[in-house]
Order: sequence, then structure tokens, then C-alpha cells
Amino acid sequence: MTYAIKVAKANPDKSIIIITKADKGESNTKYAQGGIAAVLDEHDTFENHIEDTLRAGDYINDKEVVTRVVEEAPERLKEIISWGTRFDKDKTGEYDLGKEGGHSLNRILHHKDITGFEIERALLEKIAECRNIEVLQHHFAIDLITDHHLGKLVNRRTENTCYGAYTLNSKKNIIERVLAKITMLCSGGAGQVYSHTTNPIIATGDGIAMAHRAKALVSDMEFVQFHPTALFEPGKSPSFLISEAVRGFGAYIRNKKGERFVLKSDQRGELASRDIVSKAIDKELKVSGENCVYLDCTHLEHDSFYNHFPNISDYCKKIGIDFRRDWIPIVPAAHYTCGGINVNLNSQTSITNLYACGECSRTGLHGANRLASNSLLEALVFAHHAAADVSSKINSVSFNDKIPQWNAEGTTDPDELILITHSRKELQTIMSDYVAIVRSNVRLKRALSRLKIHYEETEELYKSTKISPQLCELRNLITIAYLIVTQSMIRPENKGAFYNVDLN
Ligand SMILES: Cc1cc2nc3c(=O)[nH]c(=O)nc-3n(C[C@H](O)[C@H](O)[C@H](O)COP(=O)(O)OP(=O)(O)OC[C@H]3O[C@@H](n4cnc5c(N)ncnc54)[C@H](O)[C@@H]3O)c2cc1C
Repeated sequence: MTYAIKVAKANPDKSIIIITKADKGESNTKYAQGGIAAVLDEHDTFENHIEDTLRAGDYINDKEVVTRVVEEAPERLKEIISWGTRFDKDKTGEYDLGKEGGHSLNRILHHKDITGFEIERALLEKIAECRNIEVLQHHFAIDLITDHHLGKLVNRRTENTCYGAYTLNSKKNIIERVLAKITMLCSGGAGQVYSHTTNPIIATGDGIAMAHRAKALVSDMEFVQFHPTALFEPGKSPSFLISEAVRGFGAYIRNKKGERFVLKSDQRGELASRDIVSKAIDKELKVSGENCVYLDCTHLEHDSFYNHFPNISDYCKKIGIDFRRDWIPIVPAAHYTCGGINVNLNSQTSITNLYACGECSRTGLHGANRLASNSLLEALVFAHHAAADVSSKINSVSFNDKIPQWNAEGTTDPDELILITHSRKELQTIMSDYVAIVRSNVRLKRALSRLKIHYEETEELYKSTKISPQLCELRNLITIAYLIVTQSMIRPENKGAFYNVDLN
């Protein structure tokens, strides 16, 4: 949305279309709780934030990208504040900076525990003010239009250009050709490839899968971040997140016996980075045979805790957990896709006129594991540079009017939608059982052979029946699973969020 706003302002004669498959407010962004990181405290330095980001990423981040994102953070935040985003302040009128796992200092700007919701509110209002932005809700992007659709043979090494996308207008049930001089993918992450995830149901990795099919470069998909503290509520999907900021506020992780077992894995204990805490919990659960561990907030100042985390406190209360006296049951859940579509410093992918930004992109910022509250920031910084780059060249790009209309292959409705629902569940189970926090060569091999069956069945369905969002999502999730498994198989050493017991 910040990209659209900037391009719209810089190019009042151009029109920008935002395509979204659900209601315009439905996204991962809406659910972001903790906040957005920036060096604003006088005791903090850019070097500290850079070092924390590199350490969380296990030092395989792109240092140039890390430096750019950290150094530009204050400027980008000032901008969204000037557009109406409200962040909490303390009694002295200064921003109330929170602390999260992996951060050595307090540097998280937040709006209570619903920061993403607040940012999204402000940006949607700003979008509504821009006359040259049109938002098409309930439009499902099926595939990118590239040279392939003009009959050219393309692979990952040949020159390829993007001309827009084919989209399914879910209300009218027709497939539309949306032509664009420049296409930007900002389709979010892929947490739905696992059974337990904090990501909403829209997070099916569509953009990454589309880009992969169009032969763009996609990498680092093996680095899936599991959030250590998702609320344990059997049968509930997506899982409700207990923000990292709760541990930053002083909560302890305990096993049933009351032990703070994470301290055995890292002296930072609960404030170690997410990969370390998630692995420690995974190990504890395997050893103890229990279903969950606990987050203990009982010793914290109650009023202050409630003021910081009203959404979390109220949600827990609704299901009978009172943070003042009860420990909160938690388990790790898939949370963030660190890898994605490869982009350069201007957010440009390996395909001409195709950009990618946000969680679907792989910028090099996160390395092997994302530092908490760096993702919203990454999106803001990369959107800024993409907007500048696109504005500088848009007048030299022309539409391609030779693009054919969608060639509908399947014409019959699927006999049973339940087949698609079942396959999605099976796929999530395969990924959760074989390709989650702890992997092994045998598990990866098993996952791949099972994925092949799903791939063949789904392709057959795709070719023979009418296209539906459910079928497209399943197809995309299979591609995401395939990318995670195959890229896990070639990762030579354990790093950050990736752990294979057969490697050192
Ligand atoms: C519970 C939770 C808490 C989080 N907390 C934080 C936090 O505190 N700080 C932080 O920095 N990050 C946090 N994150 C991560 C962060 O929210 C996401 O990385 C970020 O919001 C991603 O933004 P995005 O714009 O890339 O994608 P999204 O916000 O997910 O938006 C993607 C959009 O693309 C649309 N879309 C997807 N596929 C299609 C398709 N095929 N056709 C049409 N439209 C499509 C979706 O409908 C959606 O509108 C959290 C994530 C979750 C789930």
C-alpha cells in the first residue's frame, strides 16, 4: 500500500490497480501485534540494530541490505506517522519503545498489541484519498502474464518480461486479463502450508508460487520461522499469537514442572531469537511427551500488562485463562516465510517489469531467520525504493496488447470441493510431520514422494475442472511445499531457522 501511494502521488496521470483476493483489510499485516523496529532511543545505535539483525539471521544476511533497512527505518516511520499511524507514547510524550526477542535494546514502536491493524487502517484511509488508485476486492490473481503467454520458451536464465496477471473475479466468476506496465507482487507469506500457523487463511504463498511458475528466481524457502509462543488451542486454525513483546515485558516460559528450560539452550533465555526458543520448546515437548509448555505472566504488574496487551489478555480471558493467575499454554507455530522471490535493492525480481515486496520477497535482510519486528519495516523500505525506481522508468514502458485472453482449459465444476479441502489438510499434515522445526534426510525424502502424488492429482483437477480460488490455493501450496522441501535438501549446513539432524 505504501508503494501504491507513492507511485500514485509521483504519477498523477497513471492509474494503479490493487488486486486482493479477499476483503481489502484481510492480510497478515492486520494481525501483526508486536510492532515495528527502529533506532529511536538515544542509547541505541544503528550498529546495535544491524548486529541484532545479523545475529538472528545467523550471519548469512546481505549486510548492504541490513544497513540500508536499519538506517532508513526512522525516516520511513516518520512518513507513516505523518500519514496518520498512531504509535503509543509514554507519560513523558516519548514513543514507548518495546523490547522483543533478539533485540539488545528497546526499539519496537507499537500500537497496543494491534500494531498491524493500526498501520493498515491508516494506509487504507490514505489509499482512499488517492484518486488514481483502484482497489479490486475478491479478485484472485491466478498467474502472471509473461513472454510464455506470447508463445516464447522461457526458463530461469532467459530474458522474460511481465505484462500483468490473469485474475479470477470471484463475485462474477469470470477470469479477467489485467494488463500492466509494471506489476508488483505483495501477496504475503505462506504459513498455511503447515497445520499449526499464526497466519490467516489467505497466507497460501500465491505470489511466490506464481513467480516460480513464471520462472523467476526464488530462494531461501527452507528458512521457515516458527513462532515459539502461539496459544495452544487444539483444533483452532489459525493459532492465536502471544506476541514476542510479552516475553520482552518479562514473561517466563516454563514446562509443566515450572522449570525455565529455555535457559539450558541460551543464556538469554526467553529473549533468545525465535529459532532458538522454538527449537528448545520442540525438544522439551519431545522429551516430556506433553502437548504444550506455558507462558507465565503472573509475576508481572497486572494493570500495566493489561494496558500493553489488552487484545491478548481479553482473548485469553474469553477462553478461561486469566493471565494474573493462570499460565498460558503455548506451542510453536509456523509464522514467517524468510525466503521468497529474489529481488535487488529496488525490489525488482529476475523478470523484467516484475517487482516483489514484503513477505513474498527475499531481499537478503533476514538471512536464515528474521529478527522480530523487522518485516513490516522491510516492506516499508523496499516499497519506497521500488516506487522511486518505477516512477523513474514508467514513461518508457508500454503496454503489450498482444496478450491473449485466458484460455479456459477446464469447463466443468469440480464434482466435490471436499477433495480439495482434504488434499489441503493432507498437505499441511505432511509438512508439519516431516518438514517442520526439526528435519532429517529421511523425512524430507518421504515428504517429497508424498508431494509428488498431490502434485499429479491436483494438476489433473486443474486441467479438467473450472478454476476456483480453493483449487488455485491448493496448487500454490503444493508448489510452496515443494520449494521448502527441495531447498531444504540442498542446504549444506544448519543455519538459523533451518535444522536438519543429519547435518552439523
Ligand atoms: C499473527 C502475526 C503477527 C505478526 N507480528 C508482526 C510484528 O509485530 N512485526 C512485524 O514486523 N511483523 C509481524 N508479522 C509479520 C508481518 O505481519 C507480515 O510479514 C507482513 O504483514 C506481510 O505484509 P505483506 O504486505 O507482505 O503481506 P500481507 O499483509 O499478508 O498482504 C498480502 C495481501 O495479498 C493478498 N493476496 C495474496 N494472494 C493473492 C492472490 N492470489 N490474489 C490476490 N490477492 C492476493 C492478500 O489477500 C493480502 O491482502 C506478524 C505476522 C502474523 C501472522
